Amino acid sequence: MNNLILITFLFFIISCNENEVKKTEVKETSLIISKVNDSSKLVELCQNYQRLSNLIRDNKIKSNLALKEIQIQIPKIKQEYYRQGGKDWKENTFVFPLQGYNFSAIGGKNGSGYLPNKYDFFDGNKHLGHPAHDIFINDKDQDSKDDNTNEYVNVLSFSGGVVIAIENNWDSSSQLRGGKYIWIFDPCSNSLFYYAHNSKIMVSCGQIILPGQTIAKVGRSGLNAFKKRSPSHLHFTKLKLDDNFYPRPIDTYKELLKAKK
Ligand SMILES: [Zn+2]
Repeated sequence: MNNLILITFLFFIISCNENEVKKTEVKETSLIISKVNDSSKLVELCQNYQRLSNLIRDNKIKSNLALKEIQIQIPKIKQEYYRQGGKDWKENTFVFPLQGYNFSAIGGKNGSGYLPNKYDFFDGNKHLGHPAHDIFINDKDQDSKDDNTNEYVNVLSFSGGVVIAIENNWDSSSQLRGGKYIWIFDPCSNSLFYYAHNSKIMVSCGQIILPGQTIAKVGRSGLNAFKKRSPSHLHFTKLKLDDNFYPRPIDTYKELLKAKK
């Protein structure tokens, strides 16, 4: 009789343990599912922004309406960026955006290529001015490869942040001036960074980015960048969102001088 009680008791313990194991398995599975849902929320928010970005670029939305959308969308992206572990990367972590190059590759004299006059973000593809620095690679034969290494040159993210828009579809008949480009939003500096004329995009919309991360290969994509008169370069822009979320151009020359190599 005693033996029967002992056997029943042991059986009870074993079945309890099995239940424990099952419970743990269920917990872990639901954790994985919720993680997937998390990152897809940031992707969804950024894809929404990308649609807005395309409308602005193609002059298909009025500027006051577009600004209102930015005021709604950017805080949501910012909140989700931090919720998913995105960090604040200060200026001392910023990285020169062309691997193997330094400030001597910046076009103009002492940053004179930066011409923000009459630039308005909401003019899209028709914008005036050149609120950017062009950073040139050694590419006399215009094959988009560095003449010394015969390799494509990595475009590195200057800041941290999240990819809020990319353009991957470009061919020589396209009217797009930026060609294959990337927009990255840095929540820490409240800025939008723009990397244009790439040959290859290596990130996706909604992806969290670290300073110095490879995001693209330098190229010659874009209406004017494709033309023979244009030496191969990265077009690099910073727009800071003002208190009203209006993107205003910033001269990055001094930041580029200080950036890590
Ligand atoms: Zn440029």
